Amino acid sequence: MGSATLSGMRQIHTAELLSIGSELTVGETRDTNAGELARALTDQGVEVTRMTALPDDLATVSDAFRAALTRSDLAISTGGLGPTPDDLTRESIAAALGETPAVDPELEAWLRRLFERRSTSFPEANLKQAWRIPSATSIPNDNGTAPGWWVDAPDGRVVVALPGPPREMRPMWSGWVIPRLRERGLGQDTVAITLRTSGLGESLIAQRLGRLLDRGANPTVATYARHDAVDIRISARPGGGVGGVGRAGNGGASDGDRGADPAALVAAAEAAVLEQVGDHVWGRGDVTWAAAIGERLAERGWRLAVVELGTRGSVLALLGEGLGDRLVLAEALGSDHRPPGGGRIQLPTLAQRVRAAGGAEVGLAVRASVRGSDMAVSVAIADPRGTHAERRLAFLAGPMGRTRAALLAAAVLHARLRA
Ligand code: ATP
Ligand code: MG
Repeated sequence: MGSATLSGMRQIHTAELLSIGSELTVGETRDTNAGELARALTDQGVEVTRMTALPDDLATVSDAFRAALTRSDLAISTGGLGPTPDDLTRESIAAALGETPAVDPELEAWLRRLFERRSTSFPEANLKQAWRIPSATSIPNDNGTAPGWWVDAPDGRVVVALPGPPREMRPMWSGWVIPRLRERGLGQDTVAITLRTSGLGESLIAQRLGRLLDRGANPTVATYARHDAVDIRISARPGGGVGGVGRAGNGGASDGDRGADPAALVAAAEAAVLEQVGDHVWGRGDVTWAAAIGERLAERGWRLAVVELGTRGSVLALLGEGLGDRLVLAEALGSDHRPPGGGRIQLPTLAQRVRAAGGAEVGLAVRASVRGSDMAVSVAIADPRGTHAERRLAFLAGPMGRTRAALLAAAVLHARLRA
């Protein structure tokens, strides 16, 4: 932990996250900041060793900073930088480091200008947002009145204090903090990719991947059940040897291949994973179904028309926003819909009709009907190559079943477009 670099600066290997505000500890506000920062730090190869939510209490918060600074290279807080008496983050950091805050004239001038621009008088309470302790550098906030603090603490440890509102916190984090942390030397260069799969549960994937999932291996392969996919995340850190050169991995789950290049380790593990489950991978990274289908449509210059029965619009809810102009027609009907005077229409016919009605290259028809406590899902697709129909069963009825029906339809459509 905390080895010194040649420049004498402490490298950042470990971090703790403090989410500050009683609104979090009473359950009024969900802490999304910590998760976002944890993900970003992990991607940068920094190990997050603790995440804590704390009420607006000076003793509690300053204790937390003090403790974090004995354990970790970096402590990052969000929240409590506002102008009100319950915003105590600055006071807490000052207490933890035994320093005294004073108004920074430059910050004060900036703050006063901000209020002039809004043509409102300057509330004296806001003056504390211009506070700084001697070891703090101010982090500019372009979206609010709360500047952050970057604090160089004893032994080269760092404290970063950011405001609570995510739309203020995020740009300060990625635009200001991350570049400075990188200068310090951040953890290790880890490389990670995510493969998004459908059609296999987590346990079937685990069966197929076998020893690739062994814990503690480098590269690491792990599965995560999300609402729209089972994700397989493959990550690797440098093998460890000094001046490691890019030696390709040995086909997957090796233990700490010393000196190996993480990108090569990930590529080798990815090839091994794809060999087992490649036909079920529909996307990479954080791509959504709508984006993946949109890409497939764009590759062919095709547009889509959709009719869905018994789903209460869940297909449109899943795909609509992401498909943009590629979606030309969407219609939601009841599960027993019958055309005027006619009997039940075959789903492939409906797919052809909606394709023609929308003037689209692809027509998608989906019908979900309750079958016991599950949902029977029929999917038909009409496209320039003909029609294709499939039946599947979605787990659970009700809103969950309808959402799963839409996911099944998306999977069938994506497979057809990719074929
Ligand atoms: P401001 O000066 O804008 O008030 P602040 O640093 O004082 O900034 P807080 O008062 O702690 O921030 O929180 C302001 C708002 O930011 C909260 O009402 C909440 O909507 C959001 N927020 C705070 N902390 C978090 C968090 N951990 N995750 C998500 N949102 C948060
Ligand atoms: Mg506040």
